[in-house]
Amino acid sequence: MPELTNDQRIILKASLDRLEQELKELLMLTEAGAKPVMLKENQGRLSRMDELHNQSILVANRTVTSNRLKAVLLEKQRMEVGGYGFCTSCEEPIAFKRLEAYPEASMCIECQSENE
Ligand SMILES: [Zn+2]
Repeated sequence: MPELTNDQRIILKASLDRLEQELKELLMLTEAGAKPVMLKENQGRLSRMDELHNQSILVANRTVTSNRLKAVLLEKQRMEVGGYGFCTSCEEPIAFKRLEAYPEASMCIECQSENE
């Protein structure tokens, strides 16, 4: 696998910045909804169940979002200090196509699929 070119690094840096922004916005938007559900008057059992269900999805999504944000920040750091674009497991360059889709990827596709 070829290493990233300068042009590719510039593209990926911009993607990481944009992703960081989007994830932070998403976390802010979902913040209010992720607080504990308050019991409302005149509310049927079913809608309360619905609300709890929706909330658990929201909380799960928030966890995914905040983990992804952590990965983005980590890779931004690796871009500064070096090591970005190289697999943390086998140390081979990660394919540009993969980084285009997941700029925060820290492992190549082979190592990632072994890891799951
Ligand atoms: Zn690897």
